[in-house]
Amino acid sequence: MDPITQETIPSSSGITTFTTTNSMIGSSASPPPVSRYENQKRRDWNTFGQYLRNHRPPLTLSRCSGAHVLEFLRYLDQFGKTKVHIQLCPFFGQPNPPAPCPCPLRQAWGSLDALVGRLRAAFEENGGRPEENPFAARAVRLYLREVRDLQSRARGVSYDKKRRKRLPAVFPPPC
Ligand SMILES: [Zn+2]
Repeated sequence: MDPITQETIPSSSGITTFTTTNSMIGSSASPPPVSRYENQKRRDWNTFGQYLRNHRPPLTLSRCSGAHVLEFLRYLDQFGKTKVHIQLCPFFGQPNPPAPCPCPLRQAWGSLDALVGRLRAAFEENGGRPEENPFAARAVRLYLREVRDLQSRARGVSYDKKRRKRLPAVFPPPC
């Protein structure tokens, strides 16, 4: 209980019930913690459905293979925001280039990896059979690994090391 409200409102008046009502409204306004992943998954699933509908020749989910998933991932690259240097670029392998360059923007490996994970789950939640899941196809796994290796070399970022480096950050530096 807030000590200030108890001081200003006499306990005999019965007005104290207003303060409890207010605090209940405040707590019910906070969003449930589970929905963000689910929302993102639903959005991704809708995007993929839209991609299938616009596909030429038309494509249904049941005829969708790993190759079509790769096509979809490459299509998404045009909306990417991650600079991936080509080997001839002077900034190839530099995590923080000092100047702009004409290298293409791509979807970051981490985004694609997470996206494929969400779509793989969504496929089965929407009635797809696990053994027919195109997002779990070997070709998709290999493509993601290839993208990861390519981007880590081009950007000078090792995704494994980056993840490990975060842990000792809370400890004092070694002597
Ligand atoms: Zn470049």
